[in-house]
Amino acid sequence: MRGHPESPGSRPVAFWLQHVRLGLGMSATVIVMIAVNLLLSSDHPHARVLWISNGAAVVVTVIAWRLPWRRLIERGLALPALLGWSLSLIPLIVVLAHLDGGASSPMAHVILLPLVFAAMAYPVRATILVGAAAVTGQLAIAALSEMPAGDAGLQVTVLALVTVMGARIAHTHERTLRESEALAARLGELARVDGLTGCLNHRGFHERLEAAVTGNGPGPVSLLQVDIDHFKAVNDTHGHPCGDEVLEAVGALLRAHARRDDIVARMGGEEFFLLLPATDLPTATRVAERLRVAIATAPLPVSVTVSVGISVLPDLAGSVDELIESADRALYDAKRAGRDRVVVAAPPGVRTGVDDAGRRP
Ligand code: GH3
Ligand code: MG
Ligand code: MG
Repeated sequence: MRGHPESPGSRPVAFWLQHVRLGLGMSATVIVMIAVNLLLSSDHPHARVLWISNGAAVVVTVIAWRLPWRRLIERGLALPALLGWSLSLIPLIVVLAHLDGGASSPMAHVILLPLVFAAMAYPVRATILVGAAAVTGQLAIAALSEMPAGDAGLQVTVLALVTVMGARIAHTHERTLRESEALAARLGELARVDGLTGCLNHRGFHERLEAAVTGNGPGPVSLLQVDIDHFKAVNDTHGHPCGDEVLEAVGALLRAHARRDDIVARMGGEEFFLLLPATDLPTATRVAERLRVAIATAPLPVSVTVSVGISVLPDLAGSVDELIESADRALYDAKRAGRDRVVVAAPPGVRTGVDDAGRRP
């Protein structure tokens, strides 16, 4: 839950809703147990007070039931709301258990239920807080009444023991949750990364594209589409594993040329994208040229060259889709002009095609 030091990131809404339902079930169980207890002992000396207190428990539970949990959870307030609920129930249950006959009463044991709930729903510190509230409530009741020291000692000991056990359960629960959240995050990462090169994959690129473009404000965003020339021949001549090594090396070179905010992706086969936020055309062209030379001269298992198509938003494209399309056309022009070159996309309305030097006629 957001804002709590012990709870990791953003737990799914379902996690908290499940605990709200569990808490409601436990509160209802406590209320029913108390009512049954009172009905079975009709000559109870404190029956009136107990019925009133149990009525108060009903009110607290109904309020808890009616709370807009989904909204509270979405605002990161699930834990404070659940804690408030537990803490308001605990003194009530302590008083009820005491009035009902102290340690010998079966009702004294219902006080353990909120502790069990706390252990299952809360982080360690919050579980200890709820346990400490129960122990303190019990001590206060013992001090205010003539409860025999032995009874009070027994109840406090049991509560303290359950609190320690609860904290232990909460600790394990927390660790398991952290581990599964870390695993889920890792799986999410892997689903967005290309296994061979470590660059983003198609999905990862598109997920980050919009944010990179909009997060950049009105400034230019450049896209380099990089395609290895005659790569099929590399595979055919030297074998697929060698082709893989070349792909890995080209991916590594691209990443080495990227700045922190740049996005490097292998879009499939031997085609890579390099998105450069806050980069104008002259800079993007220099980066592309440096990259082309670096790949052509790198000590790869097989020497390869690349063709690069560049486009820039908003100068040469009006939208993200146009950015990709125009860079793709520029790449196509680079291939047609003889490969191993960098070609800038044609401005909108200008016909495509370049001369041997990569210039537009
Ligand atoms: P061009 O210069 O026009 O780009 O020609 P090309 O041969 O590079 O392009 P083409 O699209 O004809 O061939 C791409 C090849 O990339 C075909 C495919 O076997 C190979 N390829 C795609 N994915 C992988 C991969 O993961 N590993 C390896 N080794 N080869 C791959
Ligand atoms: Mg190719
Ligand atoms: Mg290709």
